[in-house]
Amino acid sequence: MHANHVPSEITRVLFTESQIQERLEEVAVEVDADYAGRDLLLVGVLKGATMVMADFARHIKSHVHMDWMAVSSYGSGTQSSGVVRILKDLDTDVAGRHVLVVEDIVDTGLTLSWLLANLGSRGAASVEVFSLLRKPDAIQVPVALRYVGFDIPSVFVVGYGLDYDERYRNLREICVLDARVYGG
Ligand code: 5GP
Repeated sequence: MHANHVPSEITRVLFTESQIQERLEEVAVEVDADYAGRDLLLVGVLKGATMVMADFARHIKSHVHMDWMAVSSYGSGTQSSGVVRILKDLDTDVAGRHVLVVEDIVDTGLTLSWLLANLGSRGAASVEVFSLLRKPDAIQVPVALRYVGFDIPSVFVVGYGLDYDERYRNLREICVLDARVYGG
């Protein structure tokens, strides 16, 4: 689905398909260089990171392993609370592994800081993060993002894996959702 298929629900397109792919390729070049000679485990965070993971992993020019975690951060609608529950754990033992967490978006960083502490406690050799999007509030919680795709303003975005009420994940672009959709 394209933004122009649901024009009344979208305020504006922040990133087109080609802008997203270009940026993913740039980050993949950095990751290839940084992890040269080391086995890399990409950990995608379901469900939002599915598109990023699928495209980003294919831009990488060396072998990677891929695994997935699903966490729910309690909170209603468009606000996150930082209280996290594991819905699906990794199939992989991360002890001694170099882990790169692949995230769709970091807002407050509450979800991610919990996830990093959790992975760190399992004895990974290293845990770094690539988030496609970062909001300004992310600096409130000290989460070191090794790789960032784009910095965006504090607006609610959908598309390219990101949902509102499980919709818009299949939107090809990253868009600002019209506040009327969520009653804002
Ligand atoms: P944080 O804990 O960093 O505040 O929030 C992280 C989670 O909140 C993200 O993984 C995502 O699920 C959700 N989130 C935060 N901002 C947005 C946004 O602008 N759009 C969507 N669709 N989800 C968001």
